[in-house]
Amino acid sequence: MMAAMSEPVVHLNGEYVPLASASIPIEDRGFLFADACYEVTLVVEGRCIAIDRHLARLQRGLDELRIDVDASALEPIHHELIRRNELAGASFASVYVHITRGVAPRAHAFPANASPTVLLRAQEITGPSPTMIEHGTAAITAADVRWGRVDIKTTGLLPNVLAQQAAVDAGADDVILHRDGLVTEGSHTNVFAVLDDVLVTAPADHRILPGVTRGIVLELAEGAGIAVEQREWSTEELTAADEVLMTSTTAGVRPIVEIDGRGVGGGRRGRITERLQAEFAAFVARA
Ligand code: PMP
Repeated sequence: MMAAMSEPVVHLNGEYVPLASASIPIEDRGFLFADACYEVTLVVEGRCIAIDRHLARLQRGLDELRIDVDASALEPIHHELIRRNELAGASFASVYVHITRGVAPRAHAFPANASPTVLLRAQEITGPSPTMIEHGTAAITAADVRWGRVDIKTTGLLPNVLAQQAAVDAGADDVILHRDGLVTEGSHTNVFAVLDDVLVTAPADHRILPGVTRGIVLELAEGAGIAVEQREWSTEELTAADEVLMTSTTAGVRPIVEIDGRGVGGGRRGRITERLQAEFAAFVARA
């Protein structure tokens, strides 16, 4: 169901303000340096799915960046934004959190007295389309040229933006990144393969974002008796895979049926992908 459309309200630095009047000073370090981290939580019919995991990841990012904000204090703001924006009846919405080191004259080292800028926004989203869920999407591959700490969810996403645009320019929907011959992740998704009935994905180290959906899918797979390996895997294994799938908060579990113009996994959704989609849908329904 579509929620009623009224003027969106965001939360900025402790206040609820209309989206149109929310503004950030030009000396905000998020704007100048991408000195910031962010989080996105899926909202289904007013329920924030796996919010504990999202806030824990956000807290870890804040701690890594030494930005002094208590992420757990943001949970009530999620609920209040859903209420104020009349999203409790929406099939799919999201809450976006963006925290920067704050406003200070431009200099690289941390400012002495800046207080963090805290922005939260809730909005309706379309959610994964039934066609994508069933028939999957096409991806290209591209070199992963990002920095060495992509486990932190910073807003410095330019390499991700350029990689995703390369996919769009090639007429594809997604991009699968590789570094040193190893598959890392997508521009905004985690990537898995099924190889001889084993679900394989890169280990959660500094080379990927530890996706919340990735973690849930790994747990659901183990619960369903599917063998799981978190290990390095190669682009050769990617092209030879029985199934390839991607996961993310807003897209759920999505089959990849074509890579660089060639069919993968027989060019259609695989059996294990379909099982994981069913397990994930059940997880969301009870979350
Ligand atoms: N990798 C990257 C680079 C991402 O931006 C995202 C989306 N936040 C993911 C993976 C998927 O993570 P999640 O399941 O938490 O949305």
